[in-house]
Amino acid sequence: MVIGAGPGGYTAAFRAADLGLKVTLVERGATLGGVCLNVGCIPSKTLLHAAKVLEEAESMAQCGIRFGAPQIDRDGLRAFKNRVVGKLTGGLTALARQRKVNVVRGQARFLGPHALEIAGEGGPQRLDFKQCIIAVGSEPVRLPGLPQDPRVLDSTGALELPNDCRRLLVVGGGIIGLEMACVYDALGTQVSVVELAPGLIPGADPDLVRPLHKRIEKRYARILLGTRLKSVEASAEGLRASFEGPGDPKPDLYDYLLVAVGRTANGHTIGATAAGVQVDARGVIAVDRQMRTNQPHIYAIGDVAGGPMLAHKATHEAKVAAEVAAGHKASFDARCIPSVAYTDPEIAWVGLTETEAKARGIPYGKGSFPWAASGRSLALNRDEGFTKLLFDPQTRRVLGGGVVGPNAGELVAEIGLAVEMGADAADVGLTVHAHPTLSETVAMAAEAFEGTLTDLYLPKR
Ligand code: FAD
Ligand code: NAD
Repeated sequence: MVIGAGPGGYTAAFRAADLGLKVTLVERGATLGGVCLNVGCIPSKTLLHAAKVLEEAESMAQCGIRFGAPQIDRDGLRAFKNRVVGKLTGGLTALARQRKVNVVRGQARFLGPHALEIAGEGGPQRLDFKQCIIAVGSEPVRLPGLPQDPRVLDSTGALELPNDCRRLLVVGGGIIGLEMACVYDALGTQVSVVELAPGLIPGADPDLVRPLHKRIEKRYARILLGTRLKSVEASAEGLRASFEGPGDPKPDLYDYLLVAVGRTANGHTIGATAAGVQVDARGVIAVDRQMRTNQPHIYAIGDVAGGPMLAHKATHEAKVAAEVAAGHKASFDARCIPSVAYTDPEIAWVGLTETEAKARGIPYGKGSFPWAASGRSLALNRDEGFTKLLFDPQTRRVLGGGVVGPNAGELVAEIGLAVEMGADAADVGLTVHAHPTLSETVAMAAEAFEGTLTDLYLPKR
């Protein structure tokens, strides 16, 4: 039994079926794919592609190519996004059928350690199971005290691109907030951001966030840091937001608010106690490295099993849970999980961060390469990015790294592989990278650490 058909649940169901188990997959939503395919990763990246095209077209004016003002047909853009989502979710239905996974529609609740009740269209039904994988994901955190108003959006509402959004306040300068801000800004909305922490994307090293901050502070109306949203008053005119923070920011009027202050795990929504499964106060279900809960025949994966709340973490955990359920000796032992903000510029990091190294007193060496010296980056009319690698000073192995700039999300894969394979600076620097690519900057960061870099003059250490 698998509950929830997001990237965790469908991967677990398919892997378990491939390993010969008889699988039932329960999903309360109309389509398979969970948050990621329906209202998360995929629709947001589809809209971000549109934003990128708009911005590249605009920036080419500095390079002798001028386009007319874009004509934005939001209905057409929405339809494109929905087609992309539809292809993927439809594909999952076909994959489930090919594997003979029994898909049941409805909301699942535990009745006991080996039984579920499914509330679906045809009334409640009971399903018994030998083993169960809980993959029920997470939901947006709601801020208390905000008006019940259709103009107060969560990420799902924001992906619908309301036509009349001239001024948007994004509450929460984390990944969802800044990705959606990027989309709305490109579509012509005046965007402001209010963030409680002293910096944007608090989980990333501040040097990686700086190029993004510099770019958006020129484009957005206001970026309020270390600031709390005090109150919001709804009227026919709009939503009047007032703030509490440095410099006593003035209240302002917005057409819409996007609340993106984090997500909360769904562990408390499934009657877990009836099965004897422990859920913590945050809705997270604790698991061991085999993804087993405190009940050894019940597993939990993905967002409901705790952070980082990322689709690729969910799918990796899913395979472990399915393999363990099928009797294999599998366990989750990834050394690192990459994070990517698909903003403009993109920010990506994997493994050890400098912030974490400093906080935990971990010694490290660093090599970095500024993209102002990358021919490929300059050819893209961009010079603000950089690539950095962190090394164990003794073994010279790659411990982690970060990239900021166009396509950073693709480049970070090589750093992740280096960490997983225990590669050292010479392994990365001596791997021949194609020229001219952005991927060269990874090798050059390793060369900067090695002292063999010729593309920059670095005084000898
Ligand atoms: P989910 O995808 O949340 O799936 C859980 C499923 O369980 C849902 O389909 C739900 O309907 C179902 N369900 C819940 N309760 C029950 C029940 N009782 N009975 C039956 N079914 C139930 N991550 C990335 O890695 N990259 C990105 O670019 C990215 N972008 C994102 C953008 C946005 C706007 C958002 C909101 C999230 C984004 N994420 C991204 C996060 C990513 O979507 C999640 O980490 C991922 O979907 C988690 O997968 P999951 O399988 O654990 O849960
Ligand atoms: P987040 O934790 O990334 O960011 C939330 C931000 O809101 C933080 O910076 C936090 O300091 C701030 N905040 C909290 N309370 C606030 C308040 N009262 N006022 C102002 N700011 C406040 O959460 P998110 O952006 O909502 O995204 C949720 C999760 O979804 C992410 O953690 C990530 O795991 C996943 N996600 C991933 C991607 C991706 O991989 N590209 C994209 C979107 C979402």
